[in-house]
Amino acid sequence: MKKVIIIGGGAAGMAAAVFAAEAGLEVELFEKNEKLGKKLYITGKGRCNFTNVCTPDEFLENVVSNPKFMYSSINRFTSRDTVGLFERLGLKTKVERGRRAFPASDHSSDVIRALAGRIKALGVKVHLNTEIRKCPLPDEETAVIVATGGLSYPSTGSTGDGYRFAEKTGHRVTKTFPALVPLIAKEAFIPEMQGLSLKNVRLTFKKGKKKLFSEFGELLFTHCGISGPLALSASSYLAKILPEEELTAELDLKPALSDEQIRARLLREKDNNPELSFKNMIGALLPSKMIPVFVRQTGIDPDRKAKSLDTAGLETAAGLLRSFRFTVTAAASFSEAVITQGGVSVKDINPKTMESKVIPGLYFAGEVLDVDALTGGYNLQIAWSTAFAAASAIAEK
Ligand SMILES: Cc1cc2nc3c(=O)[nH]c(=O)nc-3n(C[C@H](O)[C@H](O)[C@H](O)COP(=O)(O)OP(=O)(O)OC[C@H]3O[C@@H](n4cnc5c(N)ncnc54)[C@H](O)[C@@H]3O)c2cc1C
Repeated sequence: MKKVIIIGGGAAGMAAAVFAAEAGLEVELFEKNEKLGKKLYITGKGRCNFTNVCTPDEFLENVVSNPKFMYSSINRFTSRDTVGLFERLGLKTKVERGRRAFPASDHSSDVIRALAGRIKALGVKVHLNTEIRKCPLPDEETAVIVATGGLSYPSTGSTGDGYRFAEKTGHRVTKTFPALVPLIAKEAFIPEMQGLSLKNVRLTFKKGKKKLFSEFGELLFTHCGISGPLALSASSYLAKILPEEELTAELDLKPALSDEQIRARLLREKDNNPELSFKNMIGALLPSKMIPVFVRQTGIDPDRKAKSLDTAGLETAAGLLRSFRFTVTAAASFSEAVITQGGVSVKDINPKTMESKVIPGLYFAGEVLDVDALTGGYNLQIAWSTAFAAASAIAEK
């Protein structure tokens, strides 16, 4: 192979252009937007958490869909290689809490500049404002890489074109769902807690007896449901179920305390403050925005004196602290989703090279593939590793 056509100038397409041109291939890059890396610009709240500095095994633990497919490409191009790549391109980097890597400047534009600068220096032919409508097919001389992204934040150019290209060329495309997305809840009390951020809580979802998700962390109530790290992570595990059925969210408000410790704590509050109203007594254990909602859920008169609370009342309050429930009816839409779950079926792609098993010479890289991960820099690492696998396989052909 002498030449590569890359469709999509996002994270995967830009990286593939750098790797392919550095390997001596002639590269043409097509991007429908007026500039490269439009989605990269908004990543990490404008700071671009471009990878997670972890081992390949730790990386794979954070991949939600088809982690096995990523085994080869992440071992060949690891998150340390990503940091090395950007440092080599002149970007100063830093690692923050949770091993998250960012540009030292905190500006995602510097990540784009590093890649775009290298693309220019290598003489890649970049065609901006050029939307590819029909997927070009590879021939003896020219390979094609489809790096058109998914469906999330369509305003950045990711409108699912790659799925259509894949289907038209005989590939299977699995159903797509918004993931890493806020969740919508039914109860009328939810908007009352809008803006409330809860730290150190446990969020659990079950289907029958099966635990679908149970993690400890931070949660935010919105005007119509929940967001924040716990809700986003949960959405990735519930994405395929929520379109079919509602699920009960169980919020453990005191995960560090045993049932016994919660009971003892309530008794202590009661004994120490006998004249306090129930709402003020329970208020010692809850953030203020939650108190009226919580009290209503117990069914106990908010003005009832603490001293008059019986065992049943205390048990109800203890039970609610352990499991505050509400109903999640849906995930928010693609316009709010960080990532797309589903995409070009990994069954039709060689995991070592990203080459199609249906059409030799045609490659797929990045979010267009049916691979997605949790937040923390893992999704961009998928883009870098799959781009490297594709570009180096073409160069070696
Ligand atoms: C708000 C937000 C924050 C995020 N933050 C992070 C983060 O901090 N860390 C992280 O790891 N991940 C993050 N992600 C996820 C990350 O952005 C994606 O995983 C990554 O951008 C996928 O790269 P990609 O190249 O496959 O697709 P994209 O970056 O979406 O690029 C695809 C490109 O292809 C172009 N294109 C599409 N169709 C055509 C066509 N027909 N012709 C020509 N061009 C076309 C598009 O215009 C686009 O530029 C975030 C996502 C969002 C939405």
